[in-house]
Amino acid sequence: MQLNRFALMMILVIAPLSSWATEQAPPLTATLHAMGGIPINISAWDLDEETFEAATEKITSRLEFLEAMMSTYRPESEISQINNGEKLESYPEELLDVLRRALDVSTRTDGAFDITVKPLVKLWKSSTKAGHLPTETEITDAMESVGYGKVNVTDEGVLELSQPGVMLDLGGIAKGYFADEAVLILRKAGATKCLVDCGGDISAYNDLDGEHGAIPFRVGVKNPLDKESILAVLELGYGAVVTSGNYERYYEIGGTRYCHIFDPRTGQPVENMLSVTLVASNGLYADAFATAVFVMGPEAAREFVEERSWLEAVIISGDGQGDPEVFVSSGLADKIEFVGK
Ligand code: AMP
Ligand code: MG
Repeated sequence: MQLNRFALMMILVIAPLSSWATEQAPPLTATLHAMGGIPINISAWDLDEETFEAATEKITSRLEFLEAMMSTYRPESEISQINNGEKLESYPEELLDVLRRALDVSTRTDGAFDITVKPLVKLWKSSTKAGHLPTETEITDAMESVGYGKVNVTDEGVLELSQPGVMLDLGGIAKGYFADEAVLILRKAGATKCLVDCGGDISAYNDLDGEHGAIPFRVGVKNPLDKESILAVLELGYGAVVTSGNYERYYEIGGTRYCHIFDPRTGQPVENMLSVTLVASNGLYADAFATAVFVMGPEAAREFVEERSWLEAVIISGDGQGDPEVFVSSGLADKIEFVGK
């Protein structure tokens, strides 16, 4: 999928390879350009070159398969067919599984994460093209079709939408899942340590007892006000780090930038949040919760993360004019090093 449009922020970058210089052996690395050209950086330890090459080929075809199923930029994808109001003869179990987990995150975030935002995405896109803000009426109309409660996955494996016009957008969750799937392929190939950076969504595995296990990954968090500079470096043992931000992708109307992440409860683009870098056990959840926490706004976001021992985050908020506020959750305090301004 055209992931440069389909999803996401690329505000996470792998810290300079110098951190790997301390490893006994450097990893094998590859950059794929699947999914509409988004770079996918892969690093793996303990594989011979032939096995690594075979694994990267598998990753390429796996990502192509998932894109063909989940991209709204592919008219023939299952998601596009669903969004056209078509009833499918059968729904791929993998798609249903991602949808179930997306709905699970919606429930657990009180609707802050909501894959039914697609009508809002469409509206803001066409308004941007037309060069004017959407009207109240247009937003109210789009909101008629928004709400995760309008989506149901039955035990029999059927996707039910409660009314015509409901459309799905996996842009807030798919890249994290793709990164997880790539990691799985590397693990199956025998890697004891690996990291996949899917356009900024990072999933990593590290067998802590393995030869390289003691050395954590170092992941840079970009300064959302100056994306060329790194604000901090996070240590990651294993798991996932995903960032949702307001500046790589946005709608620009009348010289003002509007965030590409919407509050599904108001239909408005989120304000006063600059970036949320979220650490969780896997990419799919890190991706979805990063989007959700971004929607919550600074106060609620901090509370949400601190109340959950399995989530850690760096939350950078502000209107982009004055100094941003940087919040680091307590579990990350000894795993973060501020390196920039
Ligand atoms: P991310 O970069 O992972 O935060 O995902 C942002 C993308 O997810 C947007 O470009 C939309 O396609 C979609 N999106 C926007 N707002 C939401 C939301 N509240 N919940 C779920 N997906 C959203
Ligand atoms: Mg996300």
